[in-house]
Amino acid sequence: MNPYKVTLDSLASLCKRRGFIFQSSEIYGGINGFWDYGPLGCELKRNIRNAWWKDVVQCRDDVVGLDSSIIMHPKIWEASGHIGGFADPMVDCKVCKKRFRADQLCEEQGAKLITEGSTFRLPEGMKCSACGSKDLTTPKAFNLMFKTFVGPVEDESAVAYLRPETAQGIFAQFTNVLSTSRQKVPFGIAQIGKAFRNEINPRNYTFRSREFEQMELEFFIKPGTDAEWHEYWVNERLRWYGSIGLPADSLTRYVYPKEELAHYASACVDVMFAFPFGVQELEGIAARGNFDLSRHQEFSGKPQDYFNQETNEKFIPHVVEPSAGVDRIALALLCNAYREEWLPKDNEAAEIILAEPGKQAPAGYEARTVMGFAPRIAPVKVAVFPLLKNKPELVEKARSLFTDYRRYWPCFYDVTGAIGRRYRRQDEIGTPFGVTVDFQTLQDDTVTLRDRDTMKQERLKIVDLGAFLHKTLD
Ligand code: ATP
Repeated sequence: MNPYKVTLDSLASLCKRRGFIFQSSEIYGGINGFWDYGPLGCELKRNIRNAWWKDVVQCRDDVVGLDSSIIMHPKIWEASGHIGGFADPMVDCKVCKKRFRADQLCEEQGAKLITEGSTFRLPEGMKCSACGSKDLTTPKAFNLMFKTFVGPVEDESAVAYLRPETAQGIFAQFTNVLSTSRQKVPFGIAQIGKAFRNEINPRNYTFRSREFEQMELEFFIKPGTDAEWHEYWVNERLRWYGSIGLPADSLTRYVYPKEELAHYASACVDVMFAFPFGVQELEGIAARGNFDLSRHQEFSGKPQDYFNQETNEKFIPHVVEPSAGVDRIALALLCNAYREEWLPKDNEAAEIILAEPGKQAPAGYEARTVMGFAPRIAPVKVAVFPLLKNKPELVEKARSLFTDYRRYWPCFYDVTGAIGRRYRRQDEIGTPFGVTVDFQTLQDDTVTLRDRDTMKQERLKIVDLGAFLHKTLD
């Protein structure tokens, strides 16, 4: 667990200052529930996607990829149940006109929304969390799908939806992928892409947005093997979070009790992360039976079954679905990485101390902010500095190292300011390694390698540094 108690305010301020995350359409006052990722944020997200794709698709024999369209035939959403049932209960305050998700409002006040079939009721005593009034409307279901029209005529027959999840694109292409990929059950189809939900109350920074990105795997299995594959994928996914630098003690599993499971699901586990605003879901891993494929078979009239030639068995595969959000993982990584430290001035022997939030560094110490990203997901991997900018020999050598390294990893070249300041700027964006070219480099082809976390510097031959970086970063 990150020992530094980061607040969303200080994190958001760093993210804006250093170009991780901006409010969408900021120059027009922003638009609620939408976010843009700046130069560093888009590298971070790309590293998350690449790490997932590498581990879930590229390095496995039994998973293949797909990139389906965002707008699909509206029948898909009828079959999946989204048109009928993808709704959250919405409640309005009659006094201040604020709008809430009724289940969240109740939860915040230690109560539970009462559900009776498809209608909802607030328990006694619920109040508006903005103005405190008890004058609230009866909660009603609000469908979260964004509607649009396909083609020039805006009538009912042209209605289409922005996908609220990437999963249905996978189910809809199951038979095409099966017949072209030479895969046999058990096997999976993976997809990364944008999803859209008209969330009633987007909040907690990027945690709940209206446009976000999902990484979903549908792993098709033989009926009856659901429990073992579900357990397998829960363990795999938890292991993966460790590989991108989220410590085991910041993650928990929420195992759905039977009464919370969808009627077709046999098991569901959420991977939960301890965010500054509470323990919340990063990913859901559900054993969904054959609900989706059999509904598509029913609605499309096209068979969705699988024939096993070795055993002569024919069945509609069951599925285990690990479904993760790129933006939520990015937020978890940012929360986990952020720390402020107090560094001893002019005293190499003294230890770095974790800062106390909101306090000044004590005498003899100075403050630094560090993003302690794992090298695998750090947006910039290596920063290269010539010691002095007015010495062409140093600049030329540093520039040539930079040109070499950037072919492999996102790198940063910086000549401006004192070397200590340049290191500090990299610490703040989480660059794990700094390489400095100085006069000794010109004599013996060595450079100094600075470690972001320990701040220790080590002299290395350039050839050995290359080998070290490839070993650590590739
Ligand atoms: P929640 O209960 O938080 O609304 P959910 O259980 O409906 O989420 P799923 O439908 O299981 O979410 O979606 C899978 C994953 O997609 C989530 O674990 C999350 O990482 C991501 N996700 C879902 N909704 C959002 C959102 N509004 N903003 C960002 N990420 C989201």
